[in-house]
This record gives sequence, C-alpha cells and structure tokens, in this order.
Amino acid sequence: MSATEPPSTTEPPWPLNELARINKLKGYCVLDTPPDPEFDRLTQLATRHFGMPTVLVSLVDETRQWFKARYGFEAPDVPRRLAFCAYAILTDEVMVVHDATRDERFVENDLVTGPPYIRFYAGAPLKTPEGLLLGTFCVIDSLPHFEFSDEARRDLEEFARIVVHELEMRAARRAADDARRAEAEARAAAEQAEARYRAVVETAVDAMIVIDEQGVMHAFNAAAERMFGYTAAEAVGQCIALLMPQADAARHREYIDRYLNTGERRVIGIGREVEGRHRDGWTFPVELSIAEWWMGGRRHFTGILRDVSRRKAAERALREGHALFEGVLESTTDPIFVKDLAGRYVSVNSAAAQVFGRAREEVVGCMDAELFPAAAAARIERTDRHILATGRSETIEEVVPVAGRDDPRAFSTAKTPLRDSDGRIVGLVGVARDITDRKRAEEALRASEERFRALVENAPQLMWVNRANGVAEFFNLAWRTYTGQETAEGTRWDAVHPDDRERIQELRERALAAGEPYEYELRLRRADRAYRWHIGRVSPLRQQGRIVAWVGTAMDVDDIHRARELAEEANRSKSRFLASASHDLRQPMQSILLFAEALRPHVADTAGCTALDHLQQGLDALKGLLDGLLDVSRLDAGIVQPQFEEIAVREIIEPLAAAYTPIAQAKGLAWRVAPCDAVVRSDRVLLGRMVRNLIENAIRYTQRGTVALDCTAEGGRLLIEVRDTGIGIPPDQLGRIFEEFYQVGNPERDRAQGLGLGLAIVRRLSTLLGHPVRAQSRPGGGSVFTVEVPLVAGARDRAVPSPPVPDAAGPMPDGGRFAVAVDDDVIVLLALRTMLQEWGYEVLTAASTDEAMARLRAAGRKPDVILADYRLREGRVGTEAVVRIREIYGADVPGVIVTGEIGPEPQTDAARHGLGLLHKPVTPRLLRAALARYRQEALPSAR
Ligand code: ADP
Repeated sequence: MSATEPPSTTEPPWPLNELARINKLKGYCVLDTPPDPEFDRLTQLATRHFGMPTVLVSLVDETRQWFKARYGFEAPDVPRRLAFCAYAILTDEVMVVHDATRDERFVENDLVTGPPYIRFYAGAPLKTPEGLLLGTFCVIDSLPHFEFSDEARRDLEEFARIVVHELEMRAARRAADDARRAEAEARAAAEQAEARYRAVVETAVDAMIVIDEQGVMHAFNAAAERMFGYTAAEAVGQCIALLMPQADAARHREYIDRYLNTGERRVIGIGREVEGRHRDGWTFPVELSIAEWWMGGRRHFTGILRDVSRRKAAERALREGHALFEGVLESTTDPIFVKDLAGRYVSVNSAAAQVFGRAREEVVGCMDAELFPAAAAARIERTDRHILATGRSETIEEVVPVAGRDDPRAFSTAKTPLRDSDGRIVGLVGVARDITDRKRAEEALRASEERFRALVENAPQLMWVNRANGVAEFFNLAWRTYTGQETAEGTRWDAVHPDDRERIQELRERALAAGEPYEYELRLRRADRAYRWHIGRVSPLRQQGRIVAWVGTAMDVDDIHRARELAEEANRSKSRFLASASHDLRQPMQSILLFAEALRPHVADTAGCTALDHLQQGLDALKGLLDGLLDVSRLDAGIVQPQFEEIAVREIIEPLAAAYTPIAQAKGLAWRVAPCDAVVRSDRVLLGRMVRNLIENAIRYTQRGTVALDCTAEGGRLLIEVRDTGIGIPPDQLGRIFEEFYQVGNPERDRAQGLGLGLAIVRRLSTLLGHPVRAQSRPGGGSVFTVEVPLVAGARDRAVPSPPVPDAAGPMPDGGRFAVAVDDDVIVLLALRTMLQEWGYEVLTAASTDEAMARLRAAGRKPDVILADYRLREGRVGTEAVVRIREIYGADVPGVIVTGEIGPEPQTDAARHGLGLLHKPVTPRLLRAALARYRQEALPSAR
C-alpha cells in the first residue's frame, strides 16, 4: 500500500477541529519516533487481553495514520484514506466495525479487500485533556467478531487513556527538559552578556554610571572613578548630584521630579553638555548621553559621560586661532584673498573687499570676471592658472581699476598656492600691495634723474658719475669729446696718465671708505694724445644720508700748472745760483779774513788802524751776508736736520739776554728778558737762531723805548714773544717781510740796515721745526714776533747753572804747538799758515793728503791739531788726511774740517770720524776758539 495509489471512492471526513488536532499531535513530537517499550508492552498486553491478533497505537496526521506501536501488523503507516482510525477520531466513542465487508465505509478498502483482510476493528480515540482526538488505540482481526462487550469497550478506552497519559507525561517531561535547557542557555547567555558588559563598561574610556529614578547610583565604572576621583564603592548608593556643581545638582533634581511627574524627558538623549565636579572640587565640561531602561519593574538610567575639557580647549584654541587669523587679516591695509581651484573668492579681508567697493561677504563666491573688467579678469585668471599648475609662488604686478578711484591702481600681488593637509593644491592665497604711489615716485625720480643727466651731459666741464661703490656709471659729452674715449668701466683709467693712476686710486679708495669728497691733480690724455694737467674733484651725492653716487668734475689747469712749474724752477735755479755764488765767494773771503787779522799787529799808525777797522767792518758785513746765504741755501737744500730734544728755555734765552745787553745799552734801549722755567721740545741751536734773528731785528728797528723777550705758556705750547717799541711795519708789508732780501723802506739797500735775510731764515726754520711764527705790528707802535714751541707737559726746568762759555778771545797757550793745515787753495793755505804762526804755532802746510804725509814723515813729529779742507783735488776729501795721520800718530790727534761746501756730506763724514766742522769763511776769532775747544776735547780721551 502506498500514497500513490488511486484514491478509493469513499474518503474519511476531517474532524472540525482538524487544525488544532494536528498542532497538538505535532506538539507531542512523537511522529516517526522509534518504537518505545512502554507502548509495545501495552500492545502486547492488549493482544492477550482482547485475544486479537493485531493491536495498534495509531496517530492520524494530515495524510496518513502512523503507528507508534503495533502488534501483528507489518507496515509502519497507512494512508489516511484507508485508515479506519480516520473514522474513529470523528467521535469520542469507541468505534466498532464487526465485519468490514458489511460496512459500506470499508467494503472496498484495500486493507479489507487485500491483506491483511481486515474484518473486525475496534478503536478507542486517543483523547487529549483538551478533548482533541489524535488517533486511536485499536484492535484488529481478519475474522469478523459480532460480539464486543461494553466491558471490552471500557478496557479499550482505558488503554487509550494510558497511551494519552503516557504521551502527556512525555510531553510534560520534554517541556520540562526544554524549559531547563532554555533556562541554562539563558543563564549562560546572561553570564556571557554580563562578562561582555563588564569588559566594555570597565575598559570604556567614557565614564558609565547607572542611576535609578531617584538619582541613586547603582554602577560606577573605572573611567568614572578616574574622571570624578571617587571609587565605585564610594559612589554607589549616593545621589548623582554628588558629581555635579551645586547649581546643576539643584536643576537636575527638578528635571528628575518633572520627569517622574509628567514623563517629560529632558534629561534623556545624547550629546548634552554639562559640568562635572571632581571630588577635589574642580569642575570640567562633560558630554552626557542618557539611556533609559527597565529592570524589575523599575526604571533605570545609564549615563555615559565623556570629559571634553581637551576638546573644549582645542575648540577654544581653534576659535582663538580663527580670531587671530581674522585679526591679522583685518589689521593689514594690504588686500588679502583666498580663491578656490575654480577661481572663486573663498575669503577676503576688508582691504580686498574695498578694492571692489563691496562688503566682504558680497565678494565671497564671486569670480574675477564679475569683479574686474573682462581684459583684466582674463589676465588675472591666466596668471592664477599658471600658479595652480606649477605650484610655485609668484609676485605679479597688476594694474586694475579700484572702486571709488578715477584712475587704475598698480598692485604688486604675491600669490601662493594653498595646500590642504595632504599637500594637494586646493586654491591660492594672494597678498596685494598698492604700489601706485611708489611707482609714481620712481617715475618722478627717473624723470629728475634724466634732467640731472641731461644737465651733466651738456655741461661744458668734464663730468662723470660713479655709483655708490665707485664703479663708473656715466661720463658726460665734454669728457667723451675731450678724451675721445667711450666710457666703459674697463677703460676709465685709459685716459689717466699711468704715473698718476696708482696715486689717485689710493686716494679714491680712502675717500670712498670715509664717504668724503676728494680732490686731486692728474694728467688726462686729450683726444690728440697729449697729457694735460687737471684738477679733479669728486663729491658724494647723498639721499637721506646715504651715498647714492659720486659726481666728479675735472678742470684743465695745464697752463696754470706749467706757469707754476716754471716759477718753481726759477726759484730752484736762484737757489742754485746763490749756493754756488756763495761757495765761490767763500774761499777768497776766508783768506781775506785771515790776512786782515794777521795784518793787525803790523799796523802801527792811527790812519792805518782806522783803515783796517773800516776794512774789518766791511768784511764783517760781507761775512754776515755770506753766512745768511749759506744758511738759506742749506735750509733750502734740506741739509739741516733738526735734533729735537727737551730743552729748558732758560738755556736758550739766558745767553741771548747776556749777549744783547751791551748792544741794547749802546743804543740806549731798555732790554728786558722775563725769566722762564718751561721745558720745550725743539732743536736747541735752530730755535736759538730763530729767536736771535728776531731780537736783532727788534733792536735794529727800535730807536727809543724797550725791547723785551717774554715767554707765556698757552694750551700745550710756549709762546716766545719778541716785543719792541720801534718803527713798526705797515700792514700791507707784513706779508712780505719773510721773503728773502725784502726790506721795508730800504730801497737803496743800506747794508747797515741789515741784509734782508733774517726773517727769510726765520721762516725756513719755522717750517723745518714746525714752530709757527706770527708777526703783529703797528707803524710807529712797535712790533711783536711770536714763535710757538710745543711744551713738554709737566716738565719744569731744574735751573742747573749753565756751563761757563770758554772765552775764545782770551789768551791761549798755543806756543810751541804743531799744526798741520791741508787745503788745495794756495791762498787760503797761506793765510792759515800766517794766522796760525801769529798764534805761535809751528805749521806744516800741504795741498793734498799725500803731500801732508810725505812732509810729516820728513818732520817726524806728532801734530797737535790738523786743519783740513773737505773737498780736495782728485776727488779726495780732508777726512782722509786726518785718518791717515791718526794711523801713524794715534787717534787722539784732534782734527777740524773747514769747508766751503753746503751739502750734508762734510758734516756726516766729520761726525763719523769725531772731527770738528767749521764753515768757511770762519773768522780768526771763531777759528781760534774752535782750535782750543777741539784740542781740549781730544785730551781726556786718549784714543
Ligand atoms: P733785515 O736784514 O732787513 O732786517 P729781515 O728779513 O730780518 O731783514 O727783515 C725784513 C724787513 O722786515 C726788515 O727790513 C724790516 O723792514 C722789517 N722788520 C723786521 N723786523 C722788524 C721790527 N721788529 N720792526 C720793524 N720792522 C721790522
């Protein structure tokens, strides 16, 4: 039998509560379960009890009847349409079919017509406590039974009840098992959930607090402990107000009350910001989210709190940063703007908005095309695109119209690509500066510079302009025409004489470094290649104290230069003439002087003596003139080398005071010398000479009154003043009296009135010593000549008595001495011999050294003194004679060089050999004094 067979004509009907029945049946979970001994035992028992071969515990589902237990039946189930039980479950009663072949419901049933050939059937419905009939407990036989007692029926019902009871029991057991399992599972799940919850809650960064409706805390996680400084143990059981500032706590209480009364949820939700209060009292901003839930019929709240101090601080910093940025933007008068990649203005400051005559927010979102004329906008957009493409900053000059201005303005705009945090270009930032005024100023400057250049270019003088660092920038037309040269820096020196270049370059470098104007003389080459002297002047051109250029001019002074050179040359030749003339005069003069003196003892009568006196006076004047000329030429030739030393002024003025006393007395003048203890730095001899010349003039040009010598200290200098009450000097002559031979009011050149060289010498000595000389005078009122001499600071003269001056004129023990005289001038030699013999010397004369040596050898006697001319014949010199004589007779032989030469050589040579030096013409008196001195000096040091 199978479900695929064609249905029989009669189908058992479905009970009315079929759906509930099927559900109940399935609820037992018994269908298709393996056989159970409990049910099998029942069927066995029933077989025996009822004496039937087949007993079934049959359950009817939608399509079949399935046997939970069967005895005497092969198939595990039978299609419902063949099932007798399908009829049996239609009523509560036991259904009995005595002979199926006679029951029209079953007469064609396959189980009746075929095996197992059912004839008898009795089935008690399996009735659940709810009254649903699920199947039957039935007995079957292949033989008809016409007898089935009520007792049998009741027994069969009893079996059915046992089965249902068993099914119920099993269902209850299963339900209990299920419940237990479910409970265990629920518990495990709850435990897991709890663990998960704990893990989450305890490791949560956010504080989590559970409170009930009254605000009492029930849970307090680790983060909450950290945040508020309370332990969970301290917090749990306390009111949530513990964690709030006072004011908030009161407000919170109100919220809770209102919520409890009205259900208005003002505290529930997320992201509210409140203040938290730490156990230590300080408060902090907290973000609070609250969830509501129920437990045990009571409402609870979970609060999740996050400390947002740091975020708040960051927000504040951001806000402040923004404010700062705004401040910077607004504090500058330079327009600043930001554009996006599309060229839209994203942000502008007020200065930028002003350019467009709009408000800031009106500019934002605009493109250049909406703000500038088309051409300008296109230009700007082009440069912007270029900057965005290259990613490089650029500064661009743009001339654009500006709102409220008639003429367009020039802007210098620095544009920089704007990048996001990933370095991607997202726009550009521009900072513009209005440079219109600067450009105009530059323009004005350029114009003024052009005018200046035109002026320089067309000036008739040679002119040029150098840059601040001295590099040549520009030479004017006059220069270019004059030199015939173009003007590149490399060739600027070509026009300058090679001998002048170095000097001028040095001068120029010094002046450049000092920033001072400079001036020089130089030779410039004219276009015709002739070098001509020029005076060049270069001055710095300053702007606001800074040197911006050097302006040079040059003037042709060649003619003046030439004239000056000629004058100087004339002066030089005059000096040369004077020098040679005086030299040539000196030799004869020397012999005349000596002869005149030698003559004196031999003139006895009065007329002869008078004539001799006149001769002597003339000779003195002549000697004075020659000495003056000698001095001037020696000074001009630079032969005289001053020997600077510290000198007590007294040492100079006292001898002068003494020397001029008789002279002044003779003239009936008062002669007054003020004492002075100052110490000065000067050359003893040359300073004495200066002062002496001035005293001589003062006495000479004063007829009545006083001549005085005063010394006054004044600011580090000593003023030596020679005053007189004489004739004075007219103002127009004051400047000329220092010239050679210049005399006021002596056109006939009366020699008794002086020679006109005294002040010329004073002037030269003044220059040589660096002692300025001043003359003040009033005609008829006297004169004052002042010499300024540097004082030695703090030094005071110790007033050592001056050594006695040997009296040269006194008697000298010269008798029996032996003198050697060497001179190539026969007359001078003769005069010397005569003079020396007059003084009692034995004299050996020679015209040359060799001759002197030969004669000395013949004489075989050591000389007591040697007098030698310096320049001898054949290029020999007098010092040689002394040296050679000394070689034979010892180094202690004193020697004196007597020379007419003005050069420095005789002086240095004589000094080298320790010899005295006299300049011709020397008077007999001086010569005798010198002989005495040098002989005496030679004595102590027996060299
Ligand atoms: P001199 O030999 O003529 O004195 P100086 O060179 O010493 O030559 O002086 C030049 C001239 O200056 C003198 O001739 C004289 O006219 C004038 N002079 C110099 N000193 C005085 C003075 N103290 N008082 C008046 N005139 C003076």
